[in-house]
Amino acid sequence: MATCANCKAFFMIEEKYDDYEPGKGDCVHEKSDKKGKWWDAKPVMKDMEACKEFMPKA
Ligand code: SF4
Repeated sequence: MATCANCKAFFMIEEKYDDYEPGKGDCVHEKSDKKGKWWDAKPVMKDMEACKEFMPKA
């Protein structure tokens, strides 16, 4: 089963940050429109089952 930990969008939260929890990360997606670019982030756990937007790490 693919998990968030194997996805290019997954970034582990480091211990130095207030929202650190073991296994917790951010799912980050780059978005853009005619005004510019931004990044959407939501909290996820590394062992969560991958979603439809899963992008396997090379
Ligand atoms: S929620 Fe989906 S897109 Fe985000 S890290 Fe997990 S598998 Fe990847």
